[in-house]
Amino acid sequence: MLRHDILHLLAAHPEKYVSGERISQQLKVTRAAIWKQIQVLKEEGFEIEGQTRNGYCLLKTPFSLNEWVLKKALTTISLGSKITLEDELESTNVWAKELARQGGAHGQVVIARSQSSGKGRLQRQWESPRGGLWMSVVLRPNLSLADASKLTLATSVAIVDAFEELYSLRIGIKWPNDLVFDGSKIAGILGEVVGEWNTVQALILGIGINVNFPRERLSPLLKATTLLEILGYEVDLNVLAAGIMKHLEKQVICLENKAFEELRSNWLERAVSLGEEVRILRGEQVCQGVFKGISIDGALLLETDDGEKSFSAGEVQVRSKIGEYF
Ligand code: ADP
Repeated sequence: MLRHDILHLLAAHPEKYVSGERISQQLKVTRAAIWKQIQVLKEEGFEIEGQTRNGYCLLKTPFSLNEWVLKKALTTISLGSKITLEDELESTNVWAKELARQGGAHGQVVIARSQSSGKGRLQRQWESPRGGLWMSVVLRPNLSLADASKLTLATSVAIVDAFEELYSLRIGIKWPNDLVFDGSKIAGILGEVVGEWNTVQALILGIGINVNFPRERLSPLLKATTLLEILGYEVDLNVLAAGIMKHLEKQVICLENKAFEELRSNWLERAVSLGEEVRILRGEQVCQGVFKGISIDGALLLETDDGEKSFSAGEVQVRSKIGEYF
């Protein structure tokens, strides 16, 4: 794409001006064509200064999701090897599942700037306004179905690590699949299996993060927060997406190498409410006890008056003792 070729040329000369004549010779297009593409790039959020005598200089790339910026930020081997970026999708997980059924490769990623019907567990709604990171990864890992279930844990650890590396911000993991800051949810994960009876063809890891939008953009009923709310400034969504892919790839490789204990201890180090009294809701049933940890399969271990009980992620909700979301 001509636009991307121009960007490559400008990015190869940081803080320098590249003349229109040089771009036109190198890319074999007219200077008018270049000018036109520069205007499109400015509309996409690139800050490019044009000087009649000196040419063009790339000052800043956009913080909003952009294919070129995202690819440039990527440091992975297989994750993000193919990226589909759409302005709006119903649900990135639904789209990724369809891609997987059609043979989509390991590491293929689907991202939408907004989702019209994003999903949580058990078909619950996930609010996905513009400015968030709504992304699904297709994985065909070298794992058994039982081990694959640990990928949700691995994804939680990857997101916490990315936040810490990029923003020096420590968030916590709320079992099984939520990321929280100060008791408010900032991100969620939805892992789904594509396959038929007993055979896994692919796994879909859906990641939803409240990033560059004010808290008010979400329903007031939710106990939620956004990165903008916490940090007080907007961040580069492309860098965040690339950072998460980097940490997720590392975690997937660890799982493939059977480093389960390492994953479990990493997860426990980042978990919230460990050692606290919690209530587990399974439909109408309520069970109370102390949150002791997780089993190697990722099931929650609860110490109750009747001994230790374990709960798998698919069926339950966790609440703090006083009934609040924690
Ligand atoms: P749970 O937290 O009970 O495990 P899920 O992981 O399935 O639930 O996530 C869906 C729930 O998350 C919704 O029912 C809603 O309460 C909440 N929610 C929806 N959108 C957002 C969002 N953007 N940020 C934080 N919480 C949200």
